[in-house]
Amino acid sequence: MRISRVQSLLVLIAACQSITCAVRPEASRRLMDFLTSPEIAGREAGTAEVARVADSLAAMFAQLGLKPAGTGGYFQSFVAEAPRIDSAHTFVRLNFERNTVQKELFEATLGKGLFFFPKQGRSQVLEAPLLNGGYGIVAPELGREDYSPSMAKGKILMLSLGAPSDSAFRPGAVGFRHSLSPIKSRMAQENGAVAVLFVQAAGDASRLQKEIQTRQQDFDPRILQLPEAEPFPVLFMDSLLGARMQREYENSEGRVSASISVAFTMENPCTLRNVAAVVRGSDQEKASEVILVGAHYDHLGRRHGTYYPGADDNASGIVALSEAAEAFVARPPVRSLLFVCFDGEEKGLLGSKWLSNHPLEGGTVVAMINLDCVGRIASGPAPMGSPLQNDDSQITVFYSKQAPWIEEELAGVAGTESLKVSWSSQPVFYEFSDHASFHAKKVPSMFFFGGAHGDYHKPTDSPDKIEWDLLGKRIEFLIASLDRLGNMQRKLEFVEGEGRRRP
Ligand SMILES: [Zn+2]
Repeated sequence: MRISRVQSLLVLIAACQSITCAVRPEASRRLMDFLTSPEIAGREAGTAEVARVADSLAAMFAQLGLKPAGTGGYFQSFVAEAPRIDSAHTFVRLNFERNTVQKELFEATLGKGLFFFPKQGRSQVLEAPLLNGGYGIVAPELGREDYSPSMAKGKILMLSLGAPSDSAFRPGAVGFRHSLSPIKSRMAQENGAVAVLFVQAAGDASRLQKEIQTRQQDFDPRILQLPEAEPFPVLFMDSLLGARMQREYENSEGRVSASISVAFTMENPCTLRNVAAVVRGSDQEKASEVILVGAHYDHLGRRHGTYYPGADDNASGIVALSEAAEAFVARPPVRSLLFVCFDGEEKGLLGSKWLSNHPLEGGTVVAMINLDCVGRIASGPAPMGSPLQNDDSQITVFYSKQAPWIEEELAGVAGTESLKVSWSSQPVFYEFSDHASFHAKKVPSMFFFGGAHGDYHKPTDSPDKIEWDLLGKRIEFLIASLDRLGNMQRKLEFVEGEGRRRP
């Protein structure tokens, strides 16, 4: 059900009659309207429009009375490289070698049966033995290992998309995430492979087509990356080329090598900015323990002739962050609260990665709460390829398994009696948004998430669909959580070995 602006505002005001409510409906609405307006054009990192947003967020922090916490005032600036694919010099060659005589079996060039959707790029020419890694699923805990991890080192892996239909890896089954190509690629990289070539599984051409189509649609040719990026080439072959490749591999009994050339031209680098402000803790000693509240303010910008307002993703998180900042400025907890609006999340968590590698002065981050997509309720099936399952919870908190105290401490805080919270320390947590950068640094991390819906990363993620009363309740829960984290006696620990980092 959709409600009108006036109705939703009234609902929000009604929800805020209680004295504990810290949400300012009008300010929230204004901020949402500004962030999602056509002039802001979808807040793509590196654009003039997103620079305007950063300036406004800094002004907002100043107006609320928060102290600057960046490296230059409220800003933490960093430079991102801008590689662009050079299609003419991107190809895959398959070679057969016997008695040092090399025979080229075929060459595939970009756009002619070969597809490439990189999020990062650096020119590389790789020549390595090819290994058929089956479906590429390596999940010994679920009884399946399509290739031996020790065999993958130094190889180019040829992997089939999807999973056997009768397995524990099909959609909805316990191991579904292992059937997703990004997970397979990452496993391959972690096992020492140098590149991945995806082909279709026998008789599953529709899956390949769908995956290539979806990726083509979502592909952002304006890549931005941190200078320390280590790109890992992942390419897709259409069914014709893929079948040929598999045939040649079998005919030559595996004695084939592949050369992969991925080429990029480097355009002018651009400056991105995190916007950071602090509420200094009231306790002299404990103030050096910092709780980080983060939300990304960038979004997808303009694509296919239209702009992406990104109301839920992630104007909603910025609204929640601003309300929490306002709530604590006059009554700081004993620990410090650092509020950071991240740049470049949609380009690959750039802002949070940068901050996690370049900590700000004033203390050590002992816990992190990431707010991303907190303005809507989950509806319909989760987007294609999403490892998230929708249920009827009103907010999901994913948290570091190595910090089980998070659920123990926060499950009963104020606001939870009127909000159905679902708690999860499932591995899906580790890759979704900016919290991943801090979890990787062994900071106890939480991801407050409203749920998946059909407007995710679509131009239809518009402000009229924000559920204001629900967002208000989530903000109250956030504030109560920060109150607890900021004041509790218990040490905010990350206990190694408490959980596996990855499956
Ligand atoms: Zn997003």
